[in-house]
This record gives sequence, C-alpha cells and structure tokens, in this order.
Amino acid sequence: MRITALAGGVGGARFIRGLLHHLESARPGERVEVTVIGNTGDDITLFGLRVCPDLDTILYTLGGGVHEGQGWGRADESHHVADELAALGALPQWFSLGDKDFATHIYRSQLLAQGLPLSAVTARLGARWGLPDQGVTLLPMTDTPVETHVVVTEGGEQRAIHFQEWWVRHRASLHADRFVVAGLDAAAPAPGVLEAIRTADVVLLPPSNPVVSIGIILGVPGVRDALRGTRAPVVGVSPLIGGRPVRGHADLCLRAIGVASTSAAVAGLYADFLDGWLVDPADPMEEPPSGSAPALVRRPLLMSSVEAAADIAGAALSLAESRADRRGLGGGR
Ligand code: GDP
Ligand code: CA
Repeated sequence: MRITALAGGVGGARFIRGLLHHLESARPGERVEVTVIGNTGDDITLFGLRVCPDLDTILYTLGGGVHEGQGWGRADESHHVADELAALGALPQWFSLGDKDFATHIYRSQLLAQGLPLSAVTARLGARWGLPDQGVTLLPMTDTPVETHVVVTEGGEQRAIHFQEWWVRHRASLHADRFVVAGLDAAAPAPGVLEAIRTADVVLLPPSNPVVSIGIILGVPGVRDALRGTRAPVVGVSPLIGGRPVRGHADLCLRAIGVASTSAAVAGLYADFLDGWLVDPADPMEEPPSGSAPALVRRPLLMSSVEAAADIAGAALSLAESRADRRGLGGGR
C-alpha cells in the first residue's frame, strides 16, 4: 500500500509518527510505503544557514530525536553556539537554535552550496534519522526556495515580515492582513511529489495548519490538480478542537484569509478534493446531506500520546478505505 501525506511541522510529524505506529501494530508484515510531502514555506536563512523548520521537525520526530515537550528541536540540547552569537551581537536573537540543531543546518547549507537540490539534501538527512528503514520518504514540496511572508499593520503602517518573525518573535500578536508567499507561483514540485499523489492508494491530510502548512503545499503549481485527479481517496484530520487550534495560531491565520475558525470552514478549503474528514466531538459541524463529500467521522482528535495519534491515524485510514470506491478507475473529478 502507498500512503501519501501532506505535512507541516509538529501537527504533521506527530500524526505521521502515529500512522507508523498504527501500521506496525495493525498491519505487521504488510509492505507500506509512506511518502510525506513537507511544507518549505517556513524556511529561512539565519546566520548564513538554511533552516527548514517543518522538515526538521518531521525528521527529528520520526527519528526519535525530537524535544517532546516543545514538539520541535532536539532533545538533550545545549546552546553554546547561540550564546556565543549573542555575545557577538549577531542577529536575530529571537529564533532559538540549539547546538545539535545547528549541525543539521550547517550540513544542509554545505550540501546546498555544493549544488545539491533540497530534495537530495533532505534524503540524506532522512537516512541519518532512519526514515528509509521505516518505509518513509520525506520530500520537500519543492526544491525552489519559497518563503511565506506576513503583511502586518503596526502603528497604522503596513509592512511585510518573514512568517517566522511574525510567528516566533511576535507570537502572532501583530495583526496579519494577508500572507504573501515569495517564490510560490514559480515553484516546481520537487521530484516525486506529483507522482506520490497520483500513484497513492490513500492520501492523508494530517491536522497541520490549513493556511501556512497545508495551504502553502497546495499552492505549489500542480499539487492541487494532482489531488483533484488522483484515484486515491483523500482524508483529512481537523486541526481544531472546539473551534480552537490545539497549539499555535491557526485561528489567526484563518482570519487573515477571511475563513472562520471552524472545522467545517477548514474542510471547505479542501472541498474540491476531500473525500473524508475527521472532526472532534467538541467541534460543532453540521452533518452534510448523505452522499455528498466529504464523509464525516467524529472521534476525539487530541494526539495526547503516540498511541492516541496512532488511533486517529487508524481511523483516517479506515475512513479512506471506506471511501475508496468514490473515485472509480480512470476517474478523477
Ligand atoms: P507547525 O508547522 O509546527 O505549526 O505544525 P503543523 O502545521 O503540522 O500543525 C499545526 C497544527 O496542528 C495546529 O493548527 C494545531 O491545532 C494542530 N494540532 C497540534 N496538535 C494537535 C492534536 O493533538 N490534535 C489535533 N486535531 N490537531 C493538533
Ligand atoms: Ca510550520
């Protein structure tokens, strides 16, 4: 079986880890290939180094090296390099980078400078973290540098800042007027991305941020068309519980694009390709008339442990399998 998932950082990584756990316990011995298409809109160059926060969160989480409490960065981390950079007065100081994490960015930057595309670099990092042994291929959505910027209003003046500056430095406290994704229009899907969607048996949307994670991946030319055209059922998990994001500021991101912070409204963003949607019981959502897509399943969606995430992923797979007939051979919509 081939499963393809689109993923941001923490929400995506925890879901994929749960999915692998589910497959191992529920389908032992079955050969399952999992391809994860990661968001690179969060990428930023700091101290001359290319940092890919969402890809790294997936690598560290699947590889067992993540700081569990934070959900990102490395466990057992030290900060000697950052301290020394601060003593030098190097900027910025609002983005936390630990020493082990720095090694990832140094290695990535070295390989990029040698001319390797990001996808090839990511494959090397994936090998470091044992992804091939787990049947996982992590693909960046594109090899083209893409950066999400946020147009904010401050003191009556509008300016654009990098998404990380808005999210990490200002904790989304500046009013976001809109998102502008530099490089996205001209970005080409990374090798294997469209094929992974077209040839999948199941496509999953983890509960990643619908605007700045999944929404950015959907903006890579060709990706949305591939999702509309794939024969695989597409099933998603709502990132909202009771209308609020479990962590982060997805509600403020939705507001910036004029979409309500509800699971129904998030499903609406995927309406042209979504076959099934998992919603938490705490989230009011009207049942659609029978027969219309997407099919709704209500179940608790808090990934409070690996086992809880595995159960959610298992429910997503079951829903996908029950929807497999929606898209006939030679189908697409
Ligand atoms: P980021 O790039 O690190 O922000 O991570 P993602 O974009 O992959 O995921 C962020 C989203 O995951 C947020 O909108 C959260 O609401 C959602 N999320 C995080 N933990 C959970 C959880 O336990 N359950 C559900 N349903 N959503 C979650
Ligand atoms: Ca992210």
